This record gives sequence, structure tokens and C-alpha cells, in this order.
Amino acid sequence: MSTRPYNFSAGPAAMPLEVLQQAAAEMTDWPDAQGRPSGMGVMEMSHRGKEFIAIYEQAEADLRELLAVPEHFKVLFMQGGGIAENAIVPLNLSRGESIDVVVTGSWSEKSFKEAAKFCTPHLAASGKDSNFTTLPDPAQWKLSDQARYVHVCTNETIHGVEFHQLPDLQALGSHAPLVIDFSSHVLSRSVDWSKVGLAFGGAQKNIGPAGVTLVVVREDLLGHALQVCPSAFNYQTVADHGSMYNTPPTYSIYMAGLTFQWLKRQGGVAAMEQRNIAKAQLLYDFLDNSSFYSNHVAADCRSRMNVPFFLADATRNEAFLAGAKAAGLLQLKGHKSVGGMRASIYNAMPIEGVQALVDYLRAFEQTQA
Ligand SMILES: *Cc1c(COP(=O)(O)O)cnc(C)c1O
Repeated sequence: MSTRPYNFSAGPAAMPLEVLQQAAAEMTDWPDAQGRPSGMGVMEMSHRGKEFIAIYEQAEADLRELLAVPEHFKVLFMQGGGIAENAIVPLNLSRGESIDVVVTGSWSEKSFKEAAKFCTPHLAASGKDSNFTTLPDPAQWKLSDQARYVHVCTNETIHGVEFHQLPDLQALGSHAPLVIDFSSHVLSRSVDWSKVGLAFGGAQKNIGPAGVTLVVVREDLLGHALQVCPSAFNYQTVADHGSMYNTPPTYSIYMAGLTFQWLKRQGGVAAMEQRNIAKAQLLYDFLDNSSFYSNHVAADCRSRMNVPFFLADATRNEAFLAGAKAAGLLQLKGHKSVGGMRASIYNAMPIEGVQALVDYLRAFEQTQA
């Protein structure tokens, strides 16, 4: 298995090999913490049985520990992904009134449009003028007094821009809670919960298989859903039932739990953050020192997770991708809306994988000279 290729997919993305191997070993007969066989695979268990409850409780406790989630926040495991949350958040938090949205790329643009079905979104700032290669300075945001919340996507997976610090809304004169879409960098770094009201993220970038959506919400924000909000998407209802109002995505929660355990063995989020900084620096440094490749994002807001880059001569893209695949470097093609290439280097990507990519970038350039 040591020759497994490096997978740079933006999502669903590569998972730690150890996690996949453990899941494979337990596929048909999950053993409990004492190693006693249950006689069942996790997919075959009642979500209300003691076996799955143990899996669930461990996953939640590990996540709380990894992200240092304070007591007064609920952790919900939901379904629907980040795109469903674009509706579920306004259904629960907007009261049908106005909200502020900061548009920094494709994902927050989608959030703005979807919110307009349920409330009145106000564009507080946009990075569109720079083609989403810069982030609008929070000091210049036009926050409104009446906003029920402020939506920010803290890592734009497609455009490759990341907030390296969360905006401090209070310092900017707003009393609205901050809602962050952290789908594509959750667990890659710590979260300052004192600045956050709600965070949501799909699992398939940096946690586990698609199907489970993580919501971390401050308790005082619960209980204000619109009448039309579906029960299964009402945060209060979901919280009251410990994420078991309806059947949760049990297997995805189990896999997420294995990833959380893996992260703890790696030294936790602080250790991952240091590795992610080193990985991103290795790749950006190479791109910046090359005239054959380029990345267009401003240096102060480059994503540590998603690195879009371009060949100076786009007619060589196909040859580049074919050569990459042959070299064991998979899924580097960029998003169709941006073009070029994209390397997603989530937690599960070791620095050796980034080094292998840099080696290939250099070698490919030389063959084209
Ligand atoms: C992938 C992604 C989403 C959408 O997730 P789905 O599971 O497809 O709904 C939303 N926001 C961000 C930042 C993402 O990276």
C-alpha cells in the first residue's frame, strides 16, 4: 500500500490510509472499545442501540476536544451538506428579516442567492472586483444594524482564498452573530469561538465521507426557526434529540469519528496547523519562484487547503494532467469556473505528497523547455 498515489481532490477528498484500513477491518464486525465483537457492521446497527450510541458519543467528545468547542455550543450531525445549510441557516436564524453576507468567491455567492429565498440578504462586501483573488478588508465592510447574522465563507474552496483570522464583528460595531462556512478547512486550524455564533461544514473535504454535515451552534441562537422550517432541519429539534430526530448518517459519523481519533494521534489541531502551514508554504514558494506556473491569490489570504494554479501555456494542461497521473498524482484538474489546476492539500495529505507534487512540477517544466 506504500505506493498508493497522492490524491489532490477538492472533495470528496483523500482520507488517511490508517482510517480506511481500520474501517475495512471493521466492515463486517465492529468490535467495541474492549475489543469484543458486536457481530454487526456499523452500517447495520440501529442508531439507537448501545453500540452506535457509543460510536456517536465518542465522535462528539473527540470533536469537542479537537476544536475546543465551549460548553454553551451544541454540536449537531446533520444531512444535506453545505449547500443545504445555505437554506437551513436562514430558516433557523434570519427570522425572515435581513442578514449581511460577505461574498468572497463561489461558495458565499451561492449562500447569498439561497438566503434570498428566506430573508433579505444584504451584500456587506465583495471580492468580485479582484476576481476573488483578494479578501475585502473587514474594516471596510458595510455591516447593517438590523442584520440577524453575518455570513462569511472562511475558506473558498474554488477560488483558494482563506481568512487567516476570523473577523471580530464586535470590534467592527456589529452585534450580529458570525456564521461561518468552514467546510473546506475545518480541523486544519483552531477556531476562536468567542467570535463565532454558528459554524457549519460538510464532511467530505477534511473529515470523512460525504453525507454528514457538522453544525456547531451557540445555544442562545436556537429556537427561532421560521414556521416553514422542516422539522429535520430545525436546529432546536435536532439538538433536543441529540442529532437523532431522524436517522443520522451513521456510517459517515463513524468514519468521521475514526478521523477524529487519527487527528488526536497526530497531535491534534495545533500540530496539524503547523504541518498545513509548512505544506502550503512549500507549494506556494515553488509557484512564486516559477515563471512556468502561477497562483493569482494575494499572499495574505492564500488558502492553506486549496491551491489553484495555472500553467503559463494552457495548451499544455492535458499533457500536464496525464503526466501527473502517471507519476501517481491524482485529481489536479482545476474547477471549471476557474480553469487551470488545483491542488487540495487537506489534513490527510502528508508533506511528502506536496513534495512529490513540487518535484513533478519541476520535472514537467523541464521536459517542456
Ligand atoms: C464543498 C463545499 C460546500 C458544498 O458542500 P455540499 O456537500 O456539496 O453541499 C459548501 N461550502 C464550501 C466552502 C465547500 O467547500
